[in-house]
Amino acid sequence: MTDRIAVVTGAASGIGRAVALGLARTGARVVAADLDLDGATALSREAEGITPLAVDVADPDSVTALAGQVAADIGTANVLVNCAGWDRTGKFLDSTPDFADKIVAINYLGQVHMCRAFLPGMVEAGDGGKVVNVASDAGRVGSSGETIYAGAKGGVIAMSKSLAREMARHGINVNVVCPGPTDTPLFAAQDERLKEALVRAIPFRRLAKPEEVADAVLFFASDAASYVTGQVLSVSGGLTMAG
Ligand code: NAD
Repeated sequence: MTDRIAVVTGAASGIGRAVALGLARTGARVVAADLDLDGATALSREAEGITPLAVDVADPDSVTALAGQVAADIGTANVLVNCAGWDRTGKFLDSTPDFADKIVAINYLGQVHMCRAFLPGMVEAGDGGKVVNVASDAGRVGSSGETIYAGAKGGVIAMSKSLAREMARHGINVNVVCPGPTDTPLFAAQDERLKEALVRAIPFRRLAKPEEVADAVLFFASDAASYVTGQVLSVSGGLTMAG
């Protein structure tokens, strides 16, 4: 990946952090883009070739500014990994319109904004490219206590498959990784009873490590996946094998 420029959202923490470090180890130049600029800056000290930049993926203007900054200061991105996400479990009937807007803005529209901002450059460069969108197994099979989040992640899956069809003519692959319960700050913040029930339901009886999810992202981001597009890969210890 030494000639590649990769933009990773949500890179300050959890799965995105593991993806950014993994891509940097393969020699890619990595833009670690996150709302948490301090976290992204701390990450950039851990490996060569990581540039921290601030972005709010839910804000189209912020995303446009990020794309302009990357193009001007670093170059045309060949790899885009949309990993930024947010969730709080709770009963659907207790949810508010503001909560629903926030979930959709970060988890679904954030990925739409990022694809719209970075794909024109990839298309224009004419050298193909890789988009990896991080969804969730909640978006494939549903998840009690995560109704709106599951809908947003299901939207990511449908959007990615449609985008894969449109982008194939440009040699750009679009694929989806669906983590199951993964040992990150996001998972740690959820309801204790839900967390225990989920771990009991996983055939491996443990959470994924962020690096185990990142490995699937790295596959889709690499030339090893050159003929794979529009696919959805669960990395969830078998949790949803029957779903
Ligand atoms: P995390 O909380 O550890 O990291 C998420 C990162 O996204 C944080 O650094 C945060 O600052 C950033 N972020 C949040 N909102 C943002 C915004 N508006 N703009 C830019 N950055 C923003 O979470 P994680 O567990 O590593 O999650 C990574 C992805 O994996 C998310 O899309 C999440 O929905 C998905 N996922 C996680 C799990 C799990 O169990 N951890 C399961 C399924 C799917």
